[in-house]
Amino acid sequence: MKKAIFPGSFDPITLGHVDIINRALPLFSEIIIAVGVNTDKTYLFSLEDRVNFIKKHYANEPKVKVETYSGLTIDFCKKLNIHFILRGLRNPADFEFEKAIAQTNRKLSTVETVFLLTSAGTSFISSSIVRDVLKNGGDISCLVPDSVSKKLG
Ligand code: ADP
Repeated sequence: MKKAIFPGSFDPITLGHVDIINRALPLFSEIIIAVGVNTDKTYLFSLEDRVNFIKKHYANEPKVKVETYSGLTIDFCKKLNIHFILRGLRNPADFEFEKAIAQTNRKLSTVETVFLLTSAGTSFISSSIVRDVLKNGGDISCLVPDSVSKKLG
């Protein structure tokens, strides 16, 4: 059965991520949401919060698992014996960035990257916009799943 890893920062998970995950569920037997730990990055939410928001949202979806990882995504794929990386594409900037990473990953491994195009209704959503709205006291409930907005509300 085909398993995929959906790697990202998820700082925090948004309705854009949820759209990609939900649409990928029929394509894979299992999706492991791999929450990255990158010492060069500063996060708004702790690793524990980033993981728990996702776990809570997918509590009733047995095909979704949540893991944390550091280092190369392809090494994490190798460790779990997974051959597919799932990524979402929102715009040309995402495409150029993702193209270089996917091609590098193909050069260094046999892992294939599968892209899903963002849905029209969620293409504008990014974790960084959510963080900006939040820092300035705005309402993020239309941008994130309840597991995020309920904890902050
Ligand atoms: P990273 O730091 O690796 O970019 P993110 O958590 O920002 O991690 O994103 C993880 C993945 O989710 C990326 O493939 C990104 O393109 C995708 N993604 C984020 N927001 C959206 C959205 N609104 N629509 C489609 N894909 C999205």
